[in-house]
Amino acid sequence: MKEIILVKVGEIVLKGLNRRQFEDKLIKNIKKVLRHMGRFEIKSAQSAISIIPLDDFIDLDEVCEHVRKIFGIVTYSRAAICPEKTLESILETAPKYLEEELKNIKTFKVEAKRSDKKFPYKSPEIARETGAEILREFPHLKVDVHNPDLVVNVEVRDFNAYVRGKALKGAGGIPVGTGGNAAILISGGIDSPVAAYMMAKRGIRLTAIHFASPPYTSERAEQKVVKLLKKVALYSGDMNMYTVPFTEIQETIRKKCPEEYFTLIMRRLMMKISERIARDKGCLALITGESLGQVASQTIHALACTDNATDLPVFRPLIGMDKQEIIDISYDIDTFETSIEPYEDCCTVFTPKHPRTKPVLERVIDAEKLGEFEPMIERALENLKVTYINTRED
Ligand code: ATP
Ligand code: MG
Repeated sequence: MKEIILVKVGEIVLKGLNRRQFEDKLIKNIKKVLRHMGRFEIKSAQSAISIIPLDDFIDLDEVCEHVRKIFGIVTYSRAAICPEKTLESILETAPKYLEEELKNIKTFKVEAKRSDKKFPYKSPEIARETGAEILREFPHLKVDVHNPDLVVNVEVRDFNAYVRGKALKGAGGIPVGTGGNAAILISGGIDSPVAAYMMAKRGIRLTAIHFASPPYTSERAEQKVVKLLKKVALYSGDMNMYTVPFTEIQETIRKKCPEEYFTLIMRRLMMKISERIARDKGCLALITGESLGQVASQTIHALACTDNATDLPVFRPLIGMDKQEIIDISYDIDTFETSIEPYEDCCTVFTPKHPRTKPVLERVIDAEKLGEFEPMIERALENLKVTYINTRED
């Protein structure tokens, strides 16, 4: 039986005149994700997008696994194309296509939609006839219009009639690329990959920035970040990751700055360097995985000091979340197991024994001046390494 995937778009419907642009972007994103799996026709009509496989070898389970992760999709469902656009063909297709589901439930109802008004039966007739046919084939079933175990959908559209069962929940959000570019400061921890995912969900295209301090941090630590970003990229699409050599700066902080401000000065320098990379790459904001009160450098006072180091807006999507809530999302997007692999992050080398939890900005700025960091920042920027992150296994 020939199948297609029907996709319902969400919030983008609300966007008035921008709708067209949002929908075009979504279709482009779908095409990009599926291009390695065979040939498809993708078209939008009547508030749904149809994904029609053109090659016999295409594995629809695999296609669904990817479609599930595309932002801008509220629900998706597989649907059978009825061999002919006739009532007989619908009646033959429905019980056959949904056999496995119908066998295992007790109640159902049929909803029919006829967007092709030339089709000789009206929606209520199509629903009634299909329901009667299903009852004939599966006598154990009952119709329940209020709370059925399964809603059987029949849609008669321009070219074909379709039968589909349950619609599954899509990734929600808005299509990546409609919200501008921003730079995610990514560590190997639990939080920043979740923050990246959350902003991509709001349509942001990501650029990643990672600070590495060899030999205090290892090559494996950087590889772990690449592995995390590949998982994020399944949702956000491909991106560049810039690795910043941070050793000289961190060693200087340790040598020249008061210990109680180590972490804070380091975070401010991360912001300063990230801002320059971001501006150079066309990013309009920075993103971090900070959450209020989680550690000493994430108190309201500390965050105010960090923010002062950059003029770009800093997006912190996790700011009001509990650790467990963040962990739950990291499970959902499959980054958790990688995040807890035990490699050092540059944030965890040279950590002060007694960090200030209520730092005063002027003191931090004075302490930072002792390091005379500007030439080091420039050297770091001259020696960026770029890694292209894509979702393909290689
Ligand atoms: P995470 O789990 O994301 O590492 P965290 O709770 O451990 O977060 P910190 O280590 O204090 O918090 O880092 C706070 C934020 O700073 C991170 O969420 C991330 O956005 C950024 N950050 C930390 N380390 C790095 C790094 N090595 N490179 C780039 N950004 C970093
Ligand atoms: Mg960390």
